[in-house]
Amino acid sequence: MPAPVAVAVAVASHHKALRRLAMLSAAAFLLFGVAIAAPLVGITAALAGNGTSAAQTDSVDSRIPAVVGEWGYPYAGGYTKGRGYGYHPVRGCAYCPADHKGYDLSQGCGASIFAAGPGVVTTAGSMGQFGNSVVVDHGDGVETIYAHLQWGSLAVTKNEQVSAGTRLGAEGTTGLSYGCHLHFELRIGGARLDPAPFMAARGLPLA
Ligand SMILES: [Zn+2]
Repeated sequence: MPAPVAVAVAVASHHKALRRLAMLSAAAFLLFGVAIAAPLVGITAALAGNGTSAAQTDSVDSRIPAVVGEWGYPYAGGYTKGRGYGYHPVRGCAYCPADHKGYDLSQGCGASIFAAGPGVVTTAGSMGQFGNSVVVDHGDGVETIYAHLQWGSLAVTKNEQVSAGTRLGAEGTTGLSYGCHLHFELRIGGARLDPAPFMAARGLPLA
């Protein structure tokens, strides 16, 4: 784990410290350049979640997503965490599956969704309950799925090579969905696993 990532994770529980860290990392950005400071800025912004950081007033598409090594967040900047993986019934939604096999994130209807890692697009289009979706095959049986994207928003096609930060489409509420959000799913060897520890292991904690 690179030093800036370790620092960011260590202070993740304290929002005031996070904001101070974000300011410090912004200063570090000016002093030392993108290579050192960019992952730190991205992670602190993401960990701060739905806070009122200055970055959130920017146009979503004008910012690049935070990338650490080969992997990155599916959003640029902060997002709101929805349902995590596991048993989470949705209040007011009888048709939403209670046993949740993915991780829900939201930045708002129309927000850009980015590939989380390098791979090949194996599905780009309608996917039943997932609505308009993109599936990326990362090799070694690892796949990520980006579900409920807006109809007509897909920016990639089947067999296209992508990397972390490639724009896939726009957050929507297509398929079996209750409000705009991204259903982010991880499959390894076909098994639907919790994306949170997988992403955390790559320096990209989702919570
Ligand atoms: Zn979901």
